Amino acid sequence: MDAGPDASANLFDEAGVIVADMSCRRCGYNLRGLHRDHRCPECGTPVGLSVHGELIRFAEPGWAEKVALGFQYMIWGLLISVGVTLAGCCFRRIAGGDSVIVHLVTLAAAAVSLYGVWLMTAPDPSRFGRDTDLTARKITRYALLAGLFALVLRLLTSGLPGVSAAFLGIVLFVAVILSVADVVGQVAKYLYLSRLAERIPHAGLAGRARFLCWAIGITDALGTVALLALAIIVVTSPGTSLTARLGLPGAAAPPTTSAPAASLPALPPVSNLVIAGGILIGLISIARIVFGVVAFQLLIALGRQFREQARIARDTWAAAETGERNRSQT
Ligand SMILES: [Zn+2]
Repeated sequence: MDAGPDASANLFDEAGVIVADMSCRRCGYNLRGLHRDHRCPECGTPVGLSVHGELIRFAEPGWAEKVALGFQYMIWGLLISVGVTLAGCCFRRIAGGDSVIVHLVTLAAAAVSLYGVWLMTAPDPSRFGRDTDLTARKITRYALLAGLFALVLRLLTSGLPGVSAAFLGIVLFVAVILSVADVVGQVAKYLYLSRLAERIPHAGLAGRARFLCWAIGITDALGTVALLALAIIVVTSPGTSLTARLGLPGAAAPPTTSAPAASLPALPPVSNLVIAGGILIGLISIARIVFGVVAFQLLIALGRQFREQARIARDTWAAAETGERNRSQT
């Protein structure tokens, strides 16, 4: 198969045989004298993987398929969470409160997304100890897990009526810390997505992922600052429950990074602050929706590219096997 123009051009002679010292990625065997379509005689790894292993189409097919499946789960998680957010808004209008089912489906959507991220960040076995993306992968996984806990915490506290402001303040501060972890996770995720796009290689998609890394990182960070401000307001007003503070009947609304303090009453000392905060949160929410649409398109495009590259990788490995068989027959 055509490997494309790259630095390995002078590694082969015209017949495609390796003419320089080149060790097998997996076992270190010297592949000099072997054809590019053959396998390492020691461990069976295709020669192409050792030469162009950075490219997905030479990577291990099973891993590439796992990443492609991860994109699908991430897309489904996003679709379900958008659907349940819309359904939740309608439900609140009709029933005037939050439904347990809406909360459960929100959690399920987050779990589906996280499972997708888990598959997408699976370690590439064909990198054999040269995993340069280890940090981005690990941070993505565990920070987004923290994000899931933040969501659980928000949903749990949303149904608690009449708890003290101090208790809610503590809960809010924990939510802020978990949200910070979530922001870091989002940044790491888009950074890793850009690295994966570079390995297709697809400069356009890599650029879009890097843009989202900044765009979503900044908007989510601002949302976390808004949440922190809300937590400070709640804690610095002793004797008032959050429920009363927010002027809500019954249960206190959970502060979310998308639209936290929109329902804050215009209290005299902080009214200007609250109005400014409300406008800021509105702008953040709009920006977040726009970036969310861009991210959704990116996931669909990357998913399609990865399915294609995984299929080519499958063919590459099968072809290398045939080459090996042909060689042993001659
Ligand atoms: Zn080998």
